[in-house]
Amino acid sequence: MSSDDPRTITSPSIETQAPGEAGGDEVERRLPHPGRRATDKRDKRNDRPLPASVLNPPPPPPPPPLDDYRSIVGQSQLDTLRFLARELKGKTIKMVNSTAVGGGVAEMLNRLVPLLSELDVPTRWDVITGGNDFFEITKAFHNALHGTPYELTQAAKDIFMIYNEHNRQRMKFEEDLVVIHDPQPVALILSRSQTTASWVWRCHIDLSNPNPAVWEFLRPFVERYDAAIFSSQSFARQLPIPQYLFYPCIDPLSEKNKELPDSQIQQVCDDFGIDRSRPIVTQVSRFDRLKDPVGVVQAYKLAKKYVDCQLVLAGGGATDDPEGAVVLQEVKQAAGNDPDIIILDLPPWCALQINAIQRASTIIVQKSLKEGFGLTVTEALWKGKPTIASAVGGIPNQIMHKLTGVLVHSVEGCAFQIRYLLTHPEFARSIGTAGHEHVKENFLITTNVKRWLLLFRLLEQAKAQRTRA
Ligand code: UDP
Repeated sequence: MSSDDPRTITSPSIETQAPGEAGGDEVERRLPHPGRRATDKRDKRNDRPLPASVLNPPPPPPPPPLDDYRSIVGQSQLDTLRFLARELKGKTIKMVNSTAVGGGVAEMLNRLVPLLSELDVPTRWDVITGGNDFFEITKAFHNALHGTPYELTQAAKDIFMIYNEHNRQRMKFEEDLVVIHDPQPVALILSRSQTTASWVWRCHIDLSNPNPAVWEFLRPFVERYDAAIFSSQSFARQLPIPQYLFYPCIDPLSEKNKELPDSQIQQVCDDFGIDRSRPIVTQVSRFDRLKDPVGVVQAYKLAKKYVDCQLVLAGGGATDDPEGAVVLQEVKQAAGNDPDIIILDLPPWCALQINAIQRASTIIVQKSLKEGFGLTVTEALWKGKPTIASAVGGIPNQIMHKLTGVLVHSVEGCAFQIRYLLTHPEFARSIGTAGHEHVKENFLITTNVKRWLLLFRLLEQAKAQRTRA
C-alpha cells in the first residue's frame, strides 16, 4: 500500500529528526552511596547501559481494529461511532502538528488517525519541519503561553513566520477538514482561502494566563479558524469563533497502556535495575522544567526520611523540545549520589517499557508546574495506580482530590502524600480503582473519536449552509 493510503498511516507522513536524538544512550552513572558497601546491588543500578532491547525502535505494531475495543467499551459505543461516521463516508481530514515522537499530541495522533481512517474518514497526519532556531522560539512561545516571562522580539516573529511560510508552501491542503495542533503551525491558516476545507485549531496547552505579547501575536491567526478546541474549560480565551471542549485521551490497547504479563514487567524492572520488592515512586515525563522533575526529587528526599522507597524518573526528549538535555543535567545534579534514584533517559520508542514501569510502580507522581492535560496522569489512572499530581492545567479534570487521586500544590505537599499513600495502602488502592473507572468513562480514545466525528458533522453542515447562502 502506498504511504498515501490513509489506512497505512500509523505515523506521520513526513520524516522528522531521527527518533532519540535528544536521548542519551546510557543511564546516569553515579557514585556508590557513602553508607553502603560498594558491592551493594543497588549501587550498580545506575551503572548499566540501556538494555539492548531498547536501543533500536521495535517495528510498530499494527493498529488494533475498532472491534478490539468491544471488550473494554462495549458494543453500543462502537455502534455509535459507526453510525456517526456513516454520514462522513469518504470525507477527509488532515492533522498537522510539530513532532512525530515525544509528547502527548503525537501519542494521541498515532491512534486517532488509523481509527478515523477505519471508519471510512481517511485521515492523514503531517508534521511541519523546522530548524533548531524555529523550535527554540516555539518552545519559548510554549513556555510564555503557560505564563513564563518572555520578551517577544521582531526576530522571533520573523523566524516563526519564515518556517510557517516554508511549510505552507510545501504542504497541500486538499482535505475537507484541516486540524492544526498547537501554536507551532498556527500560521498555516494563511492557506485557508485557497481551500474549501473547514479549519480547526486544536490547542493542547493551558492558555488561561498567557504572556500577552505572544498571545497577541498568535491571536489574529487563531481568529481566522472556523473553530478552536481546548482541553479544559479554563483554557478557553475570548475569541470570535466557536470553542469546543475535547478532553485528550489514551488508547487502552496501545503498547503504552495494554495489559502486560507480570513476567514482562519483571523483565523491564530487571533491565533497568528497579527493585520490585521495595516501594517504587515514579514520574514519567519529558525532562522539562514545567514537569518539575527537580521538585519530584526534592519531594522524594523529604518523604524518604520517613518511608523507604525508590524514585524512578523516566523521560526522554521530543524533537520539538531543545531544552531536554539541560534539564536532564539539572535533575542529575539534584539527585546527587542517591542510589535509590533511577534516572532513565529513554528513546522515544519505549512505550512498552514505560507501560511496564508504570505498572510496577507503587505510586505515580506528576508534579507539573503547568500542564495542558497530562496524559501521563491518565495513563497512571488507567493502570489503577494511586496518583499524586499538581492541581494545574487539566489535571483536576482527571483527579478529584481523594477520590480518583490526590492533588498537591508544593514539594512539601507532594512529599506528605508520598508518605501518606505508602503508609495507607487501602486508601491508595481505593483511589487507584476509582481513577481507572474515571478514565474509562471519560478519557479513552473511543470517546475522543466520537467528539471528532460530531464536530466534523457540525462543520460540514455549516459549510453546506454557507454554500447554499
Ligand atoms: N512519554 C514517553 N516517553 C517519555 C516521556 C513521556 O513516551 O520519555 C509519553 C507519556 O507516556 C505520555 C506523553 O509522552 O503519553 C506525555 O504527555 P503529557 O500530556 O503528559 O505531556 P506533554 O509531554 O505532552 O507535555
